[in-house]
Amino acid sequence: MSPLEILKYPEIQLFEKSAAVSEIDAVLQNQINQMFETLYCSDGLGLAAPQVGCLQSFFIYDFSRRDDEAKYGAGPIVLLNPEIIESEGEELADEGCLSIPGYFEKVRRAYRVQLKAQDREGKDIRIEAEGLAARLFQHEIDHLNGVLMLDHLSSLKRNIFIRKFKKKQKYAESK
Ligand SMILES: [Zn+2]
Repeated sequence: MSPLEILKYPEIQLFEKSAAVSEIDAVLQNQINQMFETLYCSDGLGLAAPQVGCLQSFFIYDFSRRDDEAKYGAGPIVLLNPEIIESEGEELADEGCLSIPGYFEKVRRAYRVQLKAQDREGKDIRIEAEGLAARLFQHEIDHLNGVLMLDHLSSLKRNIFIRKFKKKQKYAESK
């Protein structure tokens, strides 16, 4: 098995809404396994299906490589058709995205969330998380709706990002 290519901003598929997962079959399990392989080749904690060009509503994560893993219920975990059913509080903290490599910016998120989803066997589950894990859930669910962390920034910060990105692109093309 080899890792999949992670789509990078401004790839069009990153802005599309994913369809609900309705069939839990061998094709899906294989896709999940390949996504874990891809995640472990990166320095990220989570990966949403659209980031590898699969427009289906699920994401994977694994906190077990972190020292403070116990706090987050470790991993590896797959959440199919995840939905936030409750959120509470607010936190402004640094965030990054495997689809926007090298870019980190402070994003405001709910501090605590409760999710309902299915596990990789299709069993209904509920998960509560706070802090970093809650942030990851919100970030990955955004991906399933075609939303990037950039969409949470002020228009000033977003414009700075876009300007720098275009400049970098131009520079790369001129070489
Ligand atoms: Zn991301």
